[in-house]
Amino acid sequence: MSKFFSDKYKELTPYTPGEQPVDMQYIKLNTNESPFPPPASVVEAIKAEGAKAHLYSDPTCKKFVAKVAEVYGVKPTQVIAVNGSDEVLNFAFMAFCDKATPAVFPDITYGFYSVFAQLNGVPYKTIPLKEDFSVDYRDYLHVNATVFIANPNAPTGMQLSLDEIEQIAKSNPDNVVVIDEAYVDFGGESAVKLVDAYENLLVTQTFSKSRSLAGARLGIGIGSEKLIADLHTLRYSTNPYNVNRMTLAGGYQALCETEYYQNAVRTVVENREYTAAALKNLGFDVLPSKTNFLFVKTPLVAGETLYKKLKEKGVLVRHFTADRIKEFCRVTIGSKAQMVAFLQKVEEILAEEKNEKGTN
Ligand code: PMP
Repeated sequence: MSKFFSDKYKELTPYTPGEQPVDMQYIKLNTNESPFPPPASVVEAIKAEGAKAHLYSDPTCKKFVAKVAEVYGVKPTQVIAVNGSDEVLNFAFMAFCDKATPAVFPDITYGFYSVFAQLNGVPYKTIPLKEDFSVDYRDYLHVNATVFIANPNAPTGMQLSLDEIEQIAKSNPDNVVVIDEAYVDFGGESAVKLVDAYENLLVTQTFSKSRSLAGARLGIGIGSEKLIADLHTLRYSTNPYNVNRMTLAGGYQALCETEYYQNAVRTVVENREYTAAALKNLGFDVLPSKTNFLFVKTPLVAGETLYKKLKEKGVLVRHFTADRIKEFCRVTIGSKAQMVAFLQKVEEILAEEKNEKGTN
């Protein structure tokens, strides 16, 4: 830390992103990307726009936002385009939380929420998930705080029903309720259909998962016109060109490729169910997932050991050190071939553990 670093950030612990290795070809099941590249038309749109890279992007993101509005059945003024949904989540902490209005979110959830709270000097409270790792929606009724819920939740993969989300929004009319739907396309139910009824509801989504554009950095926020106007105020006060022109062109084209993405999502869901069944057969506990990942543990191998041994064998998964979840690994669902290879390595590790324990 330099002597120049502001006191206000001295205690800040930054978010730790999943590993993005360049040293060897891993089977990469650690950051919930899509195993499928974007369709050719999206790649073409990104390439073509590259020829105009000397010009700034459209700060209003007009064409992209209009397409989002059409696809999601809202008005363009209810949409904000962002540089990955992390950006709109940060804006939400900036815009809707302060000393008098703290943030509240589950104890086990997306790790960036507590970082954004710290970054913005916002007090926050965490509410423990239930014993079975589900969110109890009743914990978020009348809370007098800005609510952040990932639905489905990460890293558990479990979801609240739309009815439960509605109860939360309804019971907190004087506070914003942010529903982070990064994984909603893999089996969840979107709260976008509630934004006209609840002016305090902000829904965020990403193009990083189901739309295969993690590297392009594109997310959206959808809510009431006034909430979105507040977020634009912050966007124009930080970086009006937050989404680059290649990404805007690719994102627009992605919204025209419904069938490609529906097929990709269907395949991921099939591979998820296949992997979940196989892991259960091997004695794993597998939380019920509505996402493109599984959160799993086994009494046969410690979570950290499984993560390390898989890495030695060329498979990357994600392990978290927080006490409640340190026995788990989070496994992104890849292609069938990747999942077959992953399961084979898991079986090898289980056999090795058995041998080691047998000889001790
Ligand atoms: N929310 C959740 C729950 C996530 O897991 C992620 C991805 N790590 C994000 C938001 C942010 O995604 P992105 O910034 O790539 O849109």
